[in-house]
Amino acid sequence: MTSFDLRKHSQPTSDAVRDAILAKPGFGDYFSDHMAHVRYTTEQGWHGAEVVPYGPLSLDPAAAVLHYAQEIFEGIKAYRHADGSVWTFRPEKNAERFKKSARRLALPELDTETFLDSLRALVRTDAAWVPTPTSDADECSLYLRPFMIASEKFLGVRPSHEVDYYVIASPAAAYFGGEVKPVSIWLSQTYNRAAPGGTGFAKCGGNYAASMLAQSEAAANGCAQVAFLDAVEHKYLEELGGMNLFLVYKDGRIVTPSLSDSILDGVTRSSLLQLARESGYTPEERRVSIDEWREGAASGEITEAFACGTAAVITPIGELVTPDDRIKHDTDATGPVASALRKQLLDLQYGRVEDTNGWLT
Ligand code: PMP
Repeated sequence: MTSFDLRKHSQPTSDAVRDAILAKPGFGDYFSDHMAHVRYTTEQGWHGAEVVPYGPLSLDPAAAVLHYAQEIFEGIKAYRHADGSVWTFRPEKNAERFKKSARRLALPELDTETFLDSLRALVRTDAAWVPTPTSDADECSLYLRPFMIASEKFLGVRPSHEVDYYVIASPAAAYFGGEVKPVSIWLSQTYNRAAPGGTGFAKCGGNYAASMLAQSEAAANGCAQVAFLDAVEHKYLEELGGMNLFLVYKDGRIVTPSLSDSILDGVTRSSLLQLARESGYTPEERRVSIDEWREGAASGEITEAFACGTAAVITPIGELVTPDDRIKHDTDATGPVASALRKQLLDLQYGRVEDTNGWLT
C-alpha cells in the first residue's frame, strides 16, 4: 500500500456546516476538507504521496495544462452502506481507464495501487463527508474526482516533465435532482465530440470543452443532454456528452454502440452489459445507426432507450430530438428494463444485495 502522509486540516468544516451541506449536497457544489496529491517529475518519477487540506492550487501562469490542456480525470463514487461502511464500485476499472487516458495524453501512468490508495486515503480522512442515505431512493454518495495535470512552466509544445495528480471529493445527491424521469436528448448534427485517431476514448478535459457548444445547442432546444454521431459518416450512434447509450428491443436484445477510439469505455456500461446477461437479456455491442433507432422506435421494435454513467446511473430517454424530427419513447415513465437494471445496479452499489461479482472495494 502506498503510504499517504496524512496531514490534518487546521480548521476543518464544523460539524454543523458539514451536516447542513450533507442534508442537501446538490452535485459538484461542495468539497470535503482534504485532497490527495502525488507529484511526478521525469527525474524522480511519482513521489511525495500526501493528503493535504483542500484548497486552491498554486500554478505558474505558464503551466502547460493551462495552454495545451494536457490533463485527464476520472469520476467514481463512494457509497455508504447500512452498516456505516463505505465502498467504491469497481475502482480498478477507473484506474485502468486512467492509465489509458494518460497514455493518450502523453502523461505518465499512475499505477493501479497508488490510484486505489489515493482514494482510500482521502475517503478515510474525510469519511464524515460520505452522506448516509435516508431511504433506498436516496442516491447520495461522495463523488471522487481524481485528475492529473501538466504543471511544468514551459510554453513549448511537448509532454510536460512535471505532473501533479490530485483527488478531490464532493458530496452528491442524485444527479438529476432525485426524480428519475425520461429526458429529451438533442442529436447534434453540427458538432462532433470525437473522431477516429482522436481522444474520444480518453477522459480528458478537451473532450468536454469540445462538447459544451453542442450542449448549449441542446439546452436551447429544450434538451437535457446531447447525443453525438460518428464523425466520419454521421450515421452511427456514439454516446452522449457524458454518458453511454443503450437501446432495448422487444425481443430481449439490449444494444449499445461497440467501443472504438471515439467512445468512452464506461464502467456503468460494462457493468450493465454483464448484469443484463445475468438477467437473461441478450446484450449486443455493435454499430447502431440513427435510422435503426428511428425505424425501431416507430415500429415498436425498440421499446426503450437509456443513457448510463456513474453520475446519473441510468437515465431513461423519452425522446431524441433532431433538427428534423423527434424519435419518441415513453416520455412519462421509465421503461421496465431500464428500471430493473437501475435497481439492480443501485442495490449492488449500496450493499443491499450480495456482491457476487466482487465489484465492491
Ligand atoms: N461517456 C462519457 C463521455 C463520460 O464522460 C462518462 C462519464 N465518465 C461516461 C460515458 C460514463 O462512464 P462511467 O460509467 O464510467 O461513469
